[in-house]
Amino acid sequence: MPTPYTEGNGLPADASFFSERRKSAAGPSLVLEAIRTYGALSRSDLAEITGLSRAAITKITSAMIAEKMLRETEQTDTGTSGRPVQPLEINDSYAYAAGIQMRDEYLEFVVIGFAGILRSQHTIDFEHTAHPDEVLPEIKEGLATVTRKAGLEVTDLVGVGLALPGMIDHQAGMVKFLPGYEAWRNYPIGPKLAGLLNIPVTVHWRVNAAAIAEMWWGQGKLARNFVYINIDNGVGMATIVDKRLWFGHEYAAGMLGHMPVPGCSRRCICGNRGCLMTLVSIPAHIHLVEEAYKEGVGSVLTRPLRVTEPHQITFTNLVAAAEAGDRLACNIFAEVAENLAVAIATVVHLLNPQLIVLGGQIVEASHLIADSLKKHVEDHLLGPEYQTVNIAFSELVPSAATVGGATLALDLRHDKFNE
Ligand SMILES: [Zn+2]
Repeated sequence: MPTPYTEGNGLPADASFFSERRKSAAGPSLVLEAIRTYGALSRSDLAEITGLSRAAITKITSAMIAEKMLRETEQTDTGTSGRPVQPLEINDSYAYAAGIQMRDEYLEFVVIGFAGILRSQHTIDFEHTAHPDEVLPEIKEGLATVTRKAGLEVTDLVGVGLALPGMIDHQAGMVKFLPGYEAWRNYPIGPKLAGLLNIPVTVHWRVNAAAIAEMWWGQGKLARNFVYINIDNGVGMATIVDKRLWFGHEYAAGMLGHMPVPGCSRRCICGNRGCLMTLVSIPAHIHLVEEAYKEGVGSVLTRPLRVTEPHQITFTNLVAAAEAGDRLACNIFAEVAENLAVAIATVVHLLNPQLIVLGGQIVEASHLIADSLKKHVEDHLLGPEYQTVNIAFSELVPSAATVGGATLALDLRHDKFNE
């Protein structure tokens, strides 16, 4: 049985959230948000959580049940009055959407239902130097495969959400700039793909898409304001303010990886020196191994590499070495945790978020860095009177950005109901 993305991080819910949301959100949105946050709820629980009257909840939920958006659970609870009540849950088969994440070497596809249940997954090879006109038919074919695996047709989907690795004008569905993807500059991928597939397409930066997945199904469910930091080949940050993404003036907010770090002189791929990503990205970890190798530091990693190429070490190797107690690997994770803590403390001082969620490949090392990261962050903060923050690691599998693309496409359907 597929698993819905419903595990939270144990944060207490922000009690003021629904009272604030009532000012701007329609009733069906509030009901969906409450059930996504807490799981199946009775009508009286919904009234209490959303602050809407019992009569209003009865009317709204009746319409949503008639629409097949909600359904009564099979399980019967005893209500406070002693009468049996049947909690309401989101009907996963009300709508399906696909998410597609573009990485340097592959495209990942998923189909999820309206309650976030993963229906299918598919991956194909991808050549990022290819012209996007050549990639569109591959996307169409991959999408046909992933929907078939879910027992659906592409036309059954309410939409497709693309999660791309760079600057996106999400309103126009236009790529502005993807680093290393020269042919994609100013390419209107959204309209072109929508024309090819004949269904709605939404396009976002993959870090923003991942943050949306965390907000709907993951660690950010109970947070009204949080920051998602993705650490892979680059380091990107998405900011959720009042449950909405902050895009920035030129859709370029969140370039945390290019934040200058005083005293650091390493050359970054952007051409500048001393960017944060040269200290904490996944390639930065490997670079530290290579430097140690040149200096002749002994390690389970460097020793066999005296006869091979140091760049063949993978992050997964490094994690395994640290788990085995290798001193070099442990020192590298300790150093990265210290540097990452400085960046997180800066973000916390600037934005005062309730929660920081870390995602991307760094999650493989969460058990190695979580404690020291939290301690170093606390050391840099002003103190509990001013700043406290929870730090959590993403638990979404497959990757949050792909699920986030599908979630953004589901949101198109969600909006439609609220018009
Ligand atoms: Zn840079």
